[in-house]
Amino acid sequence: MSIIRLLAPNVANQIAAGEVVERPAAVVKELLENSLDAGATRVVIDFSRGGKAFIIIEDDGKGMIPEDALLSLERHATSKINAAADLDRISTFGFRGEALPSIASVARFTLQTRVKEAANGTEISVNGGKIIHQRDHGMAVGTRIEVANLFHPVPARLKFLKSDETEAAHIIRLVRLYAVSHPTVGFLLREDGREIFRSPGNVPVLERVRAIWGRQVADEVSLMPVFERSGMRLSGLLGKPGVSRGTRQDLVTVVNGRPVDSRTLAFALTESYHTLIPKGRYPLAFAFLEIDPAWVDVNVHPAKREVRFRDEARVRGFIIESVLSVLRSNVGDGLPTQTVPSLVPSISVAMPAVAPISNPGVPSQSIPTPPVPVSAATSPSSPTSVRLGWRLLARVREERAVFETPTGLAILDIGAAHQRILYESILKQFSDGAPVSQPLLLPLSLELEPLPAAVLKERMALLVAAGFSFEEYGRNFWRIEALPAWLNPAEALSFLRDVLAEMARREGDFGRPALAYDSLAQLAIQKARRKGDAFSDAELMELLQALFKTSQPSSDPRGRRTYIEWTDADLGRRFG
Ligand code: ADP
Ligand code: MG
Repeated sequence: MSIIRLLAPNVANQIAAGEVVERPAAVVKELLENSLDAGATRVVIDFSRGGKAFIIIEDDGKGMIPEDALLSLERHATSKINAAADLDRISTFGFRGEALPSIASVARFTLQTRVKEAANGTEISVNGGKIIHQRDHGMAVGTRIEVANLFHPVPARLKFLKSDETEAAHIIRLVRLYAVSHPTVGFLLREDGREIFRSPGNVPVLERVRAIWGRQVADEVSLMPVFERSGMRLSGLLGKPGVSRGTRQDLVTVVNGRPVDSRTLAFALTESYHTLIPKGRYPLAFAFLEIDPAWVDVNVHPAKREVRFRDEARVRGFIIESVLSVLRSNVGDGLPTQTVPSLVPSISVAMPAVAPISNPGVPSQSIPTPPVPVSAATSPSSPTSVRLGWRLLARVREERAVFETPTGLAILDIGAAHQRILYESILKQFSDGAPVSQPLLLPLSLELEPLPAAVLKERMALLVAAGFSFEEYGRNFWRIEALPAWLNPAEALSFLRDVLAEMARREGDFGRPALAYDSLAQLAIQKARRKGDAFSDAELMELLQALFKTSQPSSDPRGRRTYIEWTDADLGRRFG
């Protein structure tokens, strides 16, 4: 007897749903794309409990006749392509005909739709893939789809969902991306009836970004001229030089009206800012590229936003040249040079290099103090020797110093030593449970994307334990009233953005306190990295003493050596 059986259609749909709609935001994406494909000029999206309770999307697109409405719920039913040849020139979002049946198989699904030629619309109600009814329904032209109790028919999938807040953050991020990509379409996004943003169609791009992304980001970007070259057209907004982020959150790339992830585009944009933002960080940009659809490969995994270009080098060259010409005219002719000092934000965190941090000291708003208080104990007659018997012989370039030691010769990596000391003093504050906090006279205000905002809420306790004090004063708006003493107020906002991005990236690590503290301290010291030549000789000796009080003087927190030592015996052997 045969043991192979065909899957019931509903089971096949549920399996497909696993690929197409892995989370509520993916449902929103599919429905939103259908609305845009249907020529909507206005889309309203409502959701509740991160989309788990319901997602409703309503458009004024062309709608469907009752027969098509029924067909749209069949697997591989699509109005968008007829033949395989069409696959080479797809201009619509959808084309697989999988989304609606997949979604309908894992939720309670209601479709209402009307074309303008009909006096009435139709309503189809489906539960877990089974059609409950189809009947006439009075409505305006367009389509309304309600997806309730998502994944209830497949409990195994439910448990993969994150908190309501995190799922909501993904939905909001997604709708923002689509809204900013569609200048002629009006968007309204609401959660539990509360408006999250509203973006009218047909307004200039800067206004659109302000409505969708918020005022703070809009103030950090400026309009770029339109560039055109052989079949490519680039327009949008570019971050002001010196403004940067730790992630690509505000590096938005849109190709032919589709928000996409493209390594080529992100890399080209980042590359253009090469000398204007610190290494390892990303610029802000809203870059809209139009290009012949035949040059773009969108036929990749349905859930991914990744695109590839047939000729990556050409696209890359075009972007870099265009962006560089804008940056050059903004910052003068000096580009590209090593640095443009006035535009590069300082990434040093003023912090006493070796002063005991456990001393609360006087809270100060200003960027404090000379880096190292030279202790009175350092005798003026022998400023270059310390108790441990190391005598400074020479400074070598910026980063190193050579010492005679009681047993031989040592070379110290000054920056690495500083990192070790800083790291342990920050960790000590955590383990003492007594963070040293500096109240701010003028609170800082922080506006966050929904995802980092959700992370902030989830990890609030950790940040408070580190010495931050926050107050929420509006959705995704926070007032920061105190900072850890080791954090330079001028660096606080960018530090927090980086921390939240890192927390989102490494969710698991930040769930465990020891790892979380370690990660936080690691981030803090990266910010506080100082060049060796920022230390005077006297400070260097203080540094050395502090280094040998740490638990692991011989390496920095990333495992790199802080010093190399040769004993007299070693040296003797080398001389033979
Ligand atoms: P695809 O988008 O890949 O064609 P879907 O399952 O998402 O597949 O949708 C199936 C079909 O249903 C579409 O091809 C389209 O004809 C129709 N459809 C879906 N949503 C809408 C809508 N909002 N307005 C009009 N037609 C729609
Ligand atoms: Mg579709």
